[in-house]
Amino acid sequence: MADVLVVGGGSAGCVLAARLSEDAGCEVLLLEGGPDAAVMGELPPDVVDASEPTEAHDWGYVAEPDALGRSISLPRARIIGGCSSTNGCFALRGAAADYDGWAQAGNVGWGFGDVLPFFRRLETDADFAGDWHGASGPLPSAGIRPPSSTPSSSPSSTRRGAAACPMPGTITSPVPWGSGRRLAMLAAGCV
Ligand SMILES: Cc1cc2nc3c(=O)[nH]c(=O)nc-3n(C[C@H](O)[C@H](O)[C@H](O)COP(=O)(O)OP(=O)(O)OC[C@H]3O[C@@H](n4cnc5c(N)ncnc54)[C@H](O)[C@@H]3O)c2cc1C
Repeated sequence: MADVLVVGGGSAGCVLAARLSEDAGCEVLLLEGGPDAAVMGELPPDVVDASEPTEAHDWGYVAEPDALGRSISLPRARIIGGCSSTNGCFALRGAAADYDGWAQAGNVGWGFGDVLPFFRRLETDADFAGDWHGASGPLPSAGIRPPSSTPSSSPSSTRRGAAACPMPGTITSPVPWGSGRRLAMLAAGCV
């Protein structure tokens, strides 16, 4: 009999189960409705191929039609890792002012200064170091380097974009306005 049952091995459930099971005295059962892939090589081909959304490993939810009868699909992964196994892997923190607004509205501990240490503990940033970035967390973070052959990523267009709309540091800087390279939770060049 497990001490804790975690239902859903998605982004949140996997982290929760991993953290709880760091206590050797706590037996954790993680229950996932989709298949498991213990190593990268066992991931199903439709999940590895990120060029198209997976249908075979998704719950297939569709939104209720709106007043005009229009409906959209609501992708929700059905595999260990949940939507983090099928999503874009973009790493975003949100704007510091939003967190500070939540704290000022009475949510103690949600100010940007309160949550920043947790963001730092979460990541190992391959590109930047300093007060805003983590160096030893479980999630790798790096800027996406697009293929040099695509027009939008040519050095001149990148320079033009940066000159028109400069990014102070990175997208995880406290004021994330401007133009800059997208960050992703990736390692060894793989998303
Ligand atoms: C297409 C897409 C792209 C996205 N891109 C990004 C991105 O680039 N960057 C980013 O930060 N976020 C992105 N997101 C959002 C992010 O992936 C989700 O917010 C996050 O994964 C949600 O985590 P969760 O644990 O709440 O749910 P999920 O990750 O959805 O996990 C839920 C898990 O529970 C399982 N489950 C459900 N019902 C049961 C049941 N009855 N019994 C057992 N198991 C069950 C599911 O199979 C699933 O594995 C994206 C989301 C989608 C759908």
